[in-house]
Amino acid sequence: MDLAITGGEVVTERGRLRADVGIAEGRIAAVVAPGHLGEAGETIDATAMLVLPGGVDAHFHSRTPAHPERGDFYTETQAAAAGGVTTVLEMPISNPGCATPETFRNRRRLIEEQAIIDVALYGAPGTLNRADVHGMVEEGAIAFKIFMHRPVLGREDEFIGICLTEDEELYETLALVKETGKRLVVHCESDSMLEAGLARIQAEARSDLQAHMDSRPPIVEAVAVASLLTMAEDLQTSVHVAHVSSAQALQVIRRYQRDGVDVSAETCPHYLFFTEEDYLRLGPYAKYNPPIRSAHDQQALWQALADGSITIVTSDHGTYLVEEKERNRDQPWLIPSGGPGVQTLLPMMMTAALQGRLSVEQVVGLVSAEPARLFGLCGRKGTIAPGADADICIYDPRPEILMTRDRMFSKARDVNRLYADIPLKGAVVVTISAGRIVFRQGQILEERGSGRFIAPA
Ligand SMILES: [Zn+2]
Repeated sequence: MDLAITGGEVVTERGRLRADVGIAEGRIAAVVAPGHLGEAGETIDATAMLVLPGGVDAHFHSRTPAHPERGDFYTETQAAAAGGVTTVLEMPISNPGCATPETFRNRRRLIEEQAIIDVALYGAPGTLNRADVHGMVEEGAIAFKIFMHRPVLGREDEFIGICLTEDEELYETLALVKETGKRLVVHCESDSMLEAGLARIQAEARSDLQAHMDSRPPIVEAVAVASLLTMAEDLQTSVHVAHVSSAQALQVIRRYQRDGVDVSAETCPHYLFFTEEDYLRLGPYAKYNPPIRSAHDQQALWQALADGSITIVTSDHGTYLVEEKERNRDQPWLIPSGGPGVQTLLPMMMTAALQGRLSVEQVVGLVSAEPARLFGLCGRKGTIAPGADADICIYDPRPEILMTRDRMFSKARDVNRLYADIPLKGAVVVTISAGRIVFRQGQILEERGSGRFIAPA
């Protein structure tokens, strides 16, 4: 064995077990009763700790190479590693948008040069070029991603092949992605309703924060979900609804799930732990699309985690500069949406578990096992079992800590005000990616480029 983790409690989605874990050549070689592991090059004492599969964050934006000033694969995978996340699925938004095999290969090279953990890449299928879409699958695309609304003004290049506002284009894209056998992840907000909402607040010359929420209420999300799922049902294809934020969208998802449509759904910690009150308090720093909503919506999302209509939790990690968040305060629709959340994804969910809101096994399911299963990484990621990649988060459930700015690794830590000084129960002590210790006791230990590009089986 190269590495042994002894004395801890190993957690999978199926249960908890006192066991020692042996690692050889980047994979898990043995999970045995305490004290029964052979010799190892290095041993980590995990007494009183939880030994979890590393997180698999299926919704991640480093945007490399579009905005090095905001972050890249190196800086943002450090934030992931510090949060116990060992695999990220990078979205296709970049400059240019990731819509051809050539762009895909270029991004793959950047992962290999920069990342410190495993990174998979989404492709953008919306140019409707069959050769490009199949070509990206051959290059190792993990899945595909689209938006149902037009690109953010001035950022059109970054969204090539990603934005489909017309029903016919959306339908053709679903059919094309079905040919590949990959899952299509969709940002569901209705373009025409968003445009109408925007025109409304602009006509009223509103500069208040509430205007953002008023311009994209839950019906904007629900109506897009309904239209997507009607098409998915017709084509009998698999779709995944990104960042579900509202009770109304959930109702639609449940109806189609009951009718046997293969629709999976995710939500994010910003919807589970915050409400519109937090948005009104933090303004640009808590501005997301769809918006953070009411306490009623928040409750519905927790219910969906409990009843299985939402099976994964992702960060939707996105990076900005403070000046970008501060600019245009008088025209709130121009303020960029999103924030860095990968480092707190697993700790926030673990905090909820340790406070009794759900079980630790459920957290492993939501943040590791199920995203691995949905995106073709089953058996390799999301579990601690012989043969799986040695991707592990050693979590100490005892300390009560504050997520202070000096603990954050994202290059965009200054815009991370949603999670700044948030109290957490427990802490990530060690993160292991493919058998390498990438993070230990607050320090990143691995070099730029030590991570890997990964493709689905
Ligand atoms: Zn996103």
